[in-house]
Amino acid sequence: MRRQNVTILGATGSIGVSTLDVIRLHPERYRIFALCAHTRIDTLFEQCREFAPEFAVVRDAALAGELDARCREAGLRTDVRHGMAALVDMATHPEVDAVMAAIVGAAGLEPTLAAACAGKKILLANKEVLVMAGELFTRAVREHGATLLPVDSEHNAIFQSLPADFSSGLENCGVRRILLTASGGPFRTAPLAELREVTPEAACAHPNWVMGRKISVDSASMMNKGLEVIEAHWLFACPPERIQVVVHPQSVIHSLVEYVDGSVLAQLGNPDMRTPIAFALAYPERIDAGVAQLDLFAIGRLDFEAPDSDRFPCLQLAYMALEAGGTAPAILNAANEVAVAAFLDRRLPFLGIPRIIAATLDALPSGPEGSLADVLAADAAARQVAAGMIGAVT
Ligand code: NAD
Ligand code: MG
Repeated sequence: MRRQNVTILGATGSIGVSTLDVIRLHPERYRIFALCAHTRIDTLFEQCREFAPEFAVVRDAALAGELDARCREAGLRTDVRHGMAALVDMATHPEVDAVMAAIVGAAGLEPTLAAACAGKKILLANKEVLVMAGELFTRAVREHGATLLPVDSEHNAIFQSLPADFSSGLENCGVRRILLTASGGPFRTAPLAELREVTPEAACAHPNWVMGRKISVDSASMMNKGLEVIEAHWLFACPPERIQVVVHPQSVIHSLVEYVDGSVLAQLGNPDMRTPIAFALAYPERIDAGVAQLDLFAIGRLDFEAPDSDRFPCLQLAYMALEAGGTAPAILNAANEVAVAAFLDRRLPFLGIPRIIAATLDALPSGPEGSLADVLAADAAARQVAAGMIGAVT
């Protein structure tokens, strides 16, 4: 069996590191072709030492010079590049079989879309790509014969619970609804008054998952689930009214699919991203992910509740943007990125996040999602509007 060449976009992040954990277990199957990161060159250098990739990519020329010097000193032959064009090259290189899309936020759109246009196998963690440009991206996947495998745990669970031919249409497969589970995050039961005083540290302390800071804040506001509703819509061609969010605090059931005969299929597992990563890497085979066995006796019980829309207005904003269509989800996503960054910088209170997003959606009309340029223009306009409002929201 020929080894698969893998590029990891976002190698130094939570998903990137977990991907390398799985790949480390299977050196006979996978070879790291390129490791791409932003600024964390200490981690990237250690990864280069262990996996000896052909290429490494960082943000700018200065960081590239620094990493290159360290690689030379260590006797590594890794070719160090920088910038967006290099990310696109690594995502589309003819030698690459699979691209792990694990950059956080809008920054991942261009290289991931380029991977689709190059017909690659795409392991998609970077959900913002589908939120911003779901139509463009899924069309590129179809037209260029790319393979799209969801890594987000919920979407991976849905993928596993659907029949193999689901792309012929969910109705044809007898699917009635998708039940998207949500942990409810760290503030599911906190008194509403306390949400006013939430700190970045508290928001990033997720009860079940260890993740990057942006997605941790999204989980606390439940915007993460809102983004995932949009992601599910594009991945499975499912209308919004057939996607039901179910709060399930244990995060053991990763999502469910309900069929017209009353059957409900689910995927369960420990909350460990190495499971969906290993699934996507090896699909349609199964490989060891290094994940502990699920101990149902230790878990004891599974609970479910309806989402609380007063507590989590972000979820409704995402449904509204999806219904509005066009560039509205890109506007929602950009406003959220600006608001979350301001919250992490202590320039915006936690409850200001949905207010910034709602006001940005109100201020900007949604246009058609015609081309990448239209999406990037909507993203830039929304960032400007949202940033201009940060100081005014207290
Ligand atoms: P993270 O913050 O831990 O890592 C982000 C990675 O992206 C880092 O390697 C960083 O170097 C890189 N990066 C950041 N900005 C960049 C830029 N402008 N250009 C190039 N690279 C850049 O994030 P994460 O938690 O690993 O999440 C990555 C993506 O996966 C997100 O879209 C997130 O929503 C999704 N996801 C994460 C998890 C999880 O458990 N962490 C689960 C499901 C989905
Ligand atoms: Mg998820």
